Amino acid sequence: MKTLGSLADFQGTLIHPDSPGYDDARRIWNGAIDRRPALIARCASADDGARALDHALELGLPVAIRGGGHNVAGSAICDGGVVIDFSGLRRVDVNHARRTARVQPGALWGDVDAATQSYGLATPAGVVTHTGVAGLTVGGGFGWLSRRWGLTSDNLISARMLLADGRSVRAAADEHPDLFWAVCGGGGNFGIVTEFEFRLHELGTEVLAGPLIYPASQAHDVLGFYREFISGAPDELAVFINLRAAPPLDWVPPDLRGTDVLMLIPFWSGDLGEGQAILDPLRRITRPAADLVERKTYLSHQAMFDASVPHHWSYYWKSHYLPPLTDGAIDTLIERSWQKASAASYTIVFHLGGAISRRPEAASAASGRDAMHAMNINAAWPEGGPDHPDIEWCRDYFAAMEPHATGGVYVNFLHNDEGEARIRAAYGGRYDRLTRMKARYDPNNVFRSNQNITPAT
Ligand SMILES: Cc1cc2nc3c(=O)[nH]c(=O)nc-3n(C[C@H](O)[C@H](O)[C@H](O)COP(=O)(O)OP(=O)(O)OC[C@H]3O[C@@H](n4cnc5c(N)ncnc54)[C@H](O)[C@@H]3O)c2cc1C
Repeated sequence: MKTLGSLADFQGTLIHPDSPGYDDARRIWNGAIDRRPALIARCASADDGARALDHALELGLPVAIRGGGHNVAGSAICDGGVVIDFSGLRRVDVNHARRTARVQPGALWGDVDAATQSYGLATPAGVVTHTGVAGLTVGGGFGWLSRRWGLTSDNLISARMLLADGRSVRAAADEHPDLFWAVCGGGGNFGIVTEFEFRLHELGTEVLAGPLIYPASQAHDVLGFYREFISGAPDELAVFINLRAAPPLDWVPPDLRGTDVLMLIPFWSGDLGEGQAILDPLRRITRPAADLVERKTYLSHQAMFDASVPHHWSYYWKSHYLPPLTDGAIDTLIERSWQKASAASYTIVFHLGGAISRRPEAASAASGRDAMHAMNINAAWPEGGPDHPDIEWCRDYFAAMEPHATGGVYVNFLHNDEGEARIRAAYGGRYDRLTRMKARYDPNNVFRSNQNITPAT
C-alpha cells in the first residue's frame, strides 16, 4: 500500500504538514480561511494532477483543487485532505491566427491579459489581475468585456479534463457536449480542467475608462440618473458602481482618501473617438469630486482594483443578482453601504446584460443571464483574525437588499456558510440537470470542495 506523500513519478513538489513552507503553501487569498491539508501536491504538469488524484482516491482522502486560490469560501484548500495545487502552471499560448489561447490551470487573469494584449486581443476576464482563470471560468465569469462578448465561459472553446474515474477527456461543443455544458458554470463539480482553450477578440490595447468619484451626499441623484443612463447602453459600455470609503491608493486624490464616496466607473471599449460623446451625459449629472476617466491601456485598467483587495486580509462576502435598480434598491444601497466599521469594506455593483443576456438561460450551467447587475457586499479587514463586526453588517445589508434582488446569485460569490438552498438559487432551473450530470461524471462526489451539487440518486 502507498503511504501518504510518497507518490511514485510525481514531478512537482509534495508539501506535508512538517515540510518547510507548509504554512505559506496552505494560505490562500482570503486570510480568514485557516485549513490544514494532509498533503499539498504542487503539480509540475497535468499528469501530476492525475497522480495526485489517484493517490487521494486510493487513500480515501478528500480532494481540493487550487487554481488562483481566490475563492472567498476557501474551497481551494481542505482540512485533512489532498490539495491538487496548480499554482505553478501558468503558461498561456496565444494562437494569433486562430484568435485562441490555451491556458494552464494555475494561470491568473493578469497572465492571460498580458499574453493576449501583446496582439491587441482579449477575452472577457475578471476585474482583478490576481484572480485565477480556472475557478472563475468554471463558475461562469464576468468582467468589463462581458456585455460585449459574454461570460468568460461563453468564450471557452474546449476544456481538457481529468474525470473522477481517472479518464482524461476533451470537452467541447462537439465532444462530450453534456460535460462541456456543465463545466461552463457548474463550478468545479465535474472534473479537473487541466487546460482551457479560449476564443479571443479584437479589442486593441486602449480603452476609455476610469472612476467618476462623488461624495456620498450626491449618491441619490447620481444613482437615479445612472439607472436611466444604462438602460439603453451599447454593449461596448459597462458602468460599475462602487460604494466605499475612498481607498488610500495612488489614483485617488489625497483630499478624498478615507471619505465616503460613490464611484461610477464607466468602461468604453468601442471606437475611442465616439466614447467621449457616449460618456458625456454621465459627466453632466452633477460635478464629480474627481473625474479620472481617461484613455488608458486595457492592462492598466484591469489592475485598477488590485491593491484594494490584497492577499491575506480577511474577507466575508454576500451577493445578489439584481434587476434594473428599483427605488428601493437605490435607497437601500445608500442607507447601508457606508454603515460599515472597516474602511476596507465596500459594495460593488457589476453591470451585466448585453451579450450575456442574449444567450438562452439553458445555453450552459452558468447563471446571470436574466440579471442587470451582480451586487457583491464585501466585508474586508486587514487585521484581527476571522471575526469582525462587518460580517453582521454584510448579512443585514444582504437581507435588506433581498426584496430588490432577482433571487439568483453568482456561484463564485457564495461563501462557505450559505447552504444548499443558495446553491440551488445559483443554478435555478438548471439545478436538476446538473445533479444528473454530477451522477454521471462524479457519482461518489469526489469533487466536493466547492459549492457542491449533490449527485442525483
Ligand atoms: C479579488 C477578487 C476579484 C474577483 N473578481 C471577479 C470578477 O471580476 N468576475 C468574476 O466572475 N469573479 C470574480 N471573482 C470571483 C472568482 O471568480 C472566484 O473567486 C474564483 O473561484 C477564482 O478562481 P481561482 O482559480 O482563483 O479559485 P480557487 O480558489 O483556486 O478555486 C476555487 C474553486 O474553483 C474550482 N477549480 C479551481 N481550479 C480548477 C480546475 N483546474 N478545474 C476544475 N475546477 C477548478 C474548484 O472547485 C475550486 O475549489 C473575484 C474574486 C476575488 C477574490
